[in-house]
Amino acid sequence: MAVISAPRIALEDLVFTNAFAALGERFYESRTPSGLEGARLVAVSPDAAALIDLPESELTRDEFIRIAGGTAILRGMQPFAALYGGHQFGVWAGQLGDGRAIALGEITNKRDEPWEIQLKGAGQTAYSRFADGRAVLRSTIREFLASEAMDALGIPTTRALAMVANDEQVIRESIETAAIVVRLAQSFVRFGSFEIFAARGEADAIRILADYVIARFYPECGDGDDRYVRFFEAVVKRTARLMAAWQSVGFMHGVMNTDNFSILGLTLDYGPYGFMEGYEPGHICNHTDQGGRYAFDQQPGIGLWNCYALANALAAIVEPAQLEVAIKTYVPELRAAFLETTRKKLGLANAETEDDQLGQDLRTAMAEAKSDFTRTFRMLADIRTAAECAANPELAQAYREALLLALGGTPAAAEWLGRYERRLERETRPLPDRVAAMNAVNPRIVLRNHLAQEAIAASEAGDDEPVRRLLAALRRPYSDDPEVAAYDRPSPPGRPPIVVSCSS
Ligand code: AMP
Ligand code: MG
Repeated sequence: MAVISAPRIALEDLVFTNAFAALGERFYESRTPSGLEGARLVAVSPDAAALIDLPESELTRDEFIRIAGGTAILRGMQPFAALYGGHQFGVWAGQLGDGRAIALGEITNKRDEPWEIQLKGAGQTAYSRFADGRAVLRSTIREFLASEAMDALGIPTTRALAMVANDEQVIRESIETAAIVVRLAQSFVRFGSFEIFAARGEADAIRILADYVIARFYPECGDGDDRYVRFFEAVVKRTARLMAAWQSVGFMHGVMNTDNFSILGLTLDYGPYGFMEGYEPGHICNHTDQGGRYAFDQQPGIGLWNCYALANALAAIVEPAQLEVAIKTYVPELRAAFLETTRKKLGLANAETEDDQLGQDLRTAMAEAKSDFTRTFRMLADIRTAAECAANPELAQAYREALLLALGGTPAAAEWLGRYERRLERETRPLPDRVAAMNAVNPRIVLRNHLAQEAIAASEAGDDEPVRRLLAALRRPYSDDPEVAAYDRPSPPGRPPIVVSCSS
C-alpha cells in the first residue's frame, strides 16, 4: 500500500504572523541581530522543531545555522528586542528589557498555535545598558539542556530549538566562548512587561498588552469588563501550579525576579538554576543570592510575592479590591496542585486525608538524611505490601532496606516506611499500574549540575557529542534504558558543589 506523507516544510515555507510586533514600538525596539559569523551548530532539539513544523533535516542546513547564529533572517521576520521592567531581589529595578535577546518573528503552526523565535546572545539592543549583548557557551548549554529537560518532565517552560557557538571571545569571570541559544515560546511577555508601564503611569499600554495576551493565550477570560481580573486570577493560578511543579522535581530557579516570570506561567530565563541533589530545603543554588531570597523552600512564597507585584501593576486598570480577591486563589491552588503531585509520586490513587501528612513526613525524613531527591522518590515504586511481595520476599526486603538506608535508617524513617506500606495496602489499583504510574512521574534522571558541566567542558574543547547525548537522555527522563540510566549519577562525593552565578 502506498504511504502518503505530508509535504515536508522547509525553512523558506515558514509563515510569519508577528502579532507582538504589530503592537508598535512602544513595546519594543526594532533591532536586527548582530550575530556570530561562521558559527558552528552545537546541538538541536528535533522535538522543539516539531512545534514549528520543521523536520530535523532543516536544522542542519547552512541557512538554518546562519539564522540561528543571527547572521541571516528569513522573509517575513520582524526582529525586535522587547521592553520590560522588573523587581530584582525584591527591589524595583526600573527599565530592563531584552538586553541580549532578539525575537525574530512569530510562526503559526499547523495546529494554529503561535510560536515566537528568539535568539539569546545576538548582540546589543537599546536595553543592553553597559553589557555586551552576548551569551557564553557555558550558560547557553545550561539553558538549552534545562529547557528541553523541563519540558520532558511535563513542566511548562520556554523551549530551546538549537544552539550555535563561534570563536568570538566574551569576557566574564574569565574569557569564554560566545554562543546563541534559539528559544521558542508562545510568548515571552513577563510580569515586568506590565510593571514598566505601571511605573510610567501608562495605563493604556497596560490595557493594550493585557488585551493582546488575553485574546491570544487566555481566551477563556472573555471580552467583558471583568476580563482583566479574570486574566489576573488565571495567571495567579498558573504561577501557583508552576511553583508546585518546581517543588515536586526539586528544581531551583535561582533568580525569581519579576522580569524572569512568564505571564504564561512558563519557566523562563535559566541562569544559575539547579536540581536538588541531597535534600536541603533551604538550599540556595545561586551564590550571588547571599540572603537566600530564592532558596528552594522560599520559591512558593516568592511566586506569590511576584503575583503581588503584578497586581500592583494591574491596579492601574482593575479595582484593587478585586485583585485582592483573585490573589487569594494562589495558596489553595498551590496546595491542591502540590498534594495532587505528592499523591502521584507516592503512588496513591485513592485519596485519603492523611496523604498530605505522609508526604510531609517523607520530606522531613529526606531532609534529616539529606537523601538524594530524585533517587529517593524513584525508589518508592520498589516498595511492596506484604501481599504483593509473596512472589519474591527477598527482593522486596532488599528494596525496603535500600529505601530505609536512603532515608537515613533512623527509627523515624522506619516508622514512616511502615506507615507507607500500610497506606499502600489500602490502595485498590493493581501493582503493575501503580509502578508504571509512579515511574511516569518520578524521573530516573534530572539535569544535575555536574552532568551539565561534563558536557560543557567537552563542548568548550570542541566536542559537542556529549551535549547531544545528554539532551537525548533528558528528553526521556523516566526511562530505565541504559543510555538514560548512564546519567543516574549523583555528584561525586567529596567534590565541592559546582557554584553558579548570574554571570552568563
Ligand atoms: P537576567 O539576570 O539574565 O535575567 O538579566 C537581567 C537584565 O540584564 C535583562 O534586561 C537582560 O537582558 C540584561 N542582560 C543580562 N546579560 C546581558 C548581556 N550580556 N548583555 C546585555 N544585557 C544583558
Ligand atoms: Mg532575565
